[in-house]
Amino acid sequence: MSEFPTQLLINGKWIDGSGDGLDITNPATEQSFAEISAATAGEINQAVEAGQAAFESGWRDMPPGQRSELLHHLARRIRDNVESIAQLETRNVGKPISDARWEADAGAKVFEYYAGAIGHLCGQTIPVARGGFDFTLRQPMGVIAAITPWNFPFLIACWKVAPALAAGNPVVLKPASLTPLTALLLGQLAQEAGLPDGVLQVVPGAGSEAGNALATHPLVRKIGFTGSTEIGAKIMKLAANDIKRVSLELGGKSPNIVFADANWQRAADESPMSVFANTGQDCCARSRMFVEQSIFDDFVNQFVAATEALKIGDPTLDETQVGPMVCASQRELSETFIAEARDANRDIRTGGDRPGDSGFYLNPAVITGVETVDRAWREEIFGPVVCMRPFTDEAEMLREVNDTNFGLSGSVWSSDLNRALRVARQVESGVISINTHSSVHTEAPFGGFKRSGLGRDLGMSAMEACTEVKNIYVGE
Ligand code: NAP
Repeated sequence: MSEFPTQLLINGKWIDGSGDGLDITNPATEQSFAEISAATAGEINQAVEAGQAAFESGWRDMPPGQRSELLHHLARRIRDNVESIAQLETRNVGKPISDARWEADAGAKVFEYYAGAIGHLCGQTIPVARGGFDFTLRQPMGVIAAITPWNFPFLIACWKVAPALAAGNPVVLKPASLTPLTALLLGQLAQEAGLPDGVLQVVPGAGSEAGNALATHPLVRKIGFTGSTEIGAKIMKLAANDIKRVSLELGGKSPNIVFADANWQRAADESPMSVFANTGQDCCARSRMFVEQSIFDDFVNQFVAATEALKIGDPTLDETQVGPMVCASQRELSETFIAEARDANRDIRTGGDRPGDSGFYLNPAVITGVETVDRAWREEIFGPVVCMRPFTDEAEMLREVNDTNFGLSGSVWSSDLNRALRVARQVESGVISINTHSSVHTEAPFGGFKRSGLGRDLGMSAMEACTEVKNIYVGE
């Protein structure tokens, strides 16, 4: 018996899928350590039908207090298992164990938040012109598909699953093929917490097969997707036939803006981890830096020193800050951007090379002298690479900041709060932080403008987006 589930969780049972098994590799050692069963369209159909049955036979109509209690139980099961979730995540994704522990604990908080939020999912009473009594209900939708990426497998699964369940919908969760382990563990913990069969099902499988079958299944009412902009656009098209609801959390190319009047030394010390955390495989990575010309050279020197001081290596060690990338092809992709920058005589101030022979490691790269047409400046690299440009004029800088198809996140550093707020309002992004890089909070909406997404995760908005609004009018 494996120490973690390796089969599909469908209708309360662990079963083998009929797809080609998924080979699971430890990115720190490049060694394969598990094979996971994969769903094809047949198992996806079984799961969606079981979800629909669970919806009709009780989950939809369960008293909110009882649903809340079950989600609190699940939060407790997560909390009791933070260490095993974190160990598994580190082994599968290569992320530093301290980050993995934080993410597992944050997953428990997400379930606690939505277990409490159930009692705050309210409709309205509306004073309509002709009198009588008009009010709205927020009703669950039916089966919701959650399709998740490999960079924060456990935490993003919690972001998708918790608000959907809290609002009274069953969820069929398809994790990324590279990293399905902690999603399966979440399914197991949900069983242990007493969630009824069919309420949370977990079906790893290839995106093109299992993901496609899920996104096109007629009984799926909504698709909650996090992943690349390219696949997000595909999901939107697949959803169009049935007018399925979609929420899309997609790519980013977020700016980090530092004015000379800021505590820029602090910004220089803290900014490397705003882009190199999770080895740069972070949709919020502040990968474009705009630094006021008068401090540019000093800032870059301090940023480079802080980058070179980062502890890169074995992700199982408590002190490690940057682990390997998730797989060989993801590292090669980053390396193509670095090679292009080198060929164009951009200045690679540090990093961009491999620190050793084993593991998918890549030393964080800091590039200056970039032009706004450079691919490294314009495209999401999703690796440990930052590009920096100086600015002199605020309006011109803002024009460059917004000259992108993305709009997810960003930071502004200035001791002049009026200026920081003025700039924050003008940056076209769904999330922005001032004098810090912390911009993701369980209680607050998170999502993107433009091609960074549609809809919001987290906060009450995510739960409301898992409901339909019904208006009821009572005549006099
Ligand atoms: P991806 O390639 O788009 O895959 C995401 C998920 O979609 C995976 O489960 C994948 O399955 C599935 N999928 C692929 N093709 C599909 C299809 N035709 N139909 C249905 N599902 C399909 O993204 P990724 O490489 O895993 O993740 C990296 C991307 O996610 C980056 O762009 C990053 O910015 C973005 N991201 C955004 C946020 C946010 O909140 N905005 C957070 C994290 C990551 P397979 O694994 O089997 O291919």
